[in-house]
Amino acid sequence: MKLKSIREERQKLVDRIAKLDALENKLLSQKTIRCCDSNYGKGCGAKTKIKNITYIQTLYYVDEAYNEHWENGEGQFDCPKCGLRNRLIDIFGQKGREKFCELKYLFKNIIEKEK
Ligand SMILES: [Zn+2]
Repeated sequence: MKLKSIREERQKLVDRIAKLDALENKLLSQKTIRCCDSNYGKGCGAKTKIKNITYIQTLYYVDEAYNEHWENGEGQFDCPKCGLRNRLIDIFGQKGREKFCELKYLFKNIIEKEK
């Protein structure tokens, strides 16, 4: 196989993977999340597509000697129907929290909020 053929073949695969990633993200963003009880109150149970929810990235301040900075905390969202603040960790547990941190770009938008 010639070098040019190898590069062309690789580019076809890269393009194919990009298309599959886009398709996967589109389907994931159409999944719904249910408004649940949290320490902010009682959930209404409404299901909302991820693509229609604003992801709230909480931030917390870390004050280590000579290294003061902000770090990402948990992900939250306000239910579009009732307005209740939901915590993704309450709904999906610790594993879900990590998963949604990776997938937060699927949400309608992302805002940051100091804890
Ligand atoms: Zn609700």
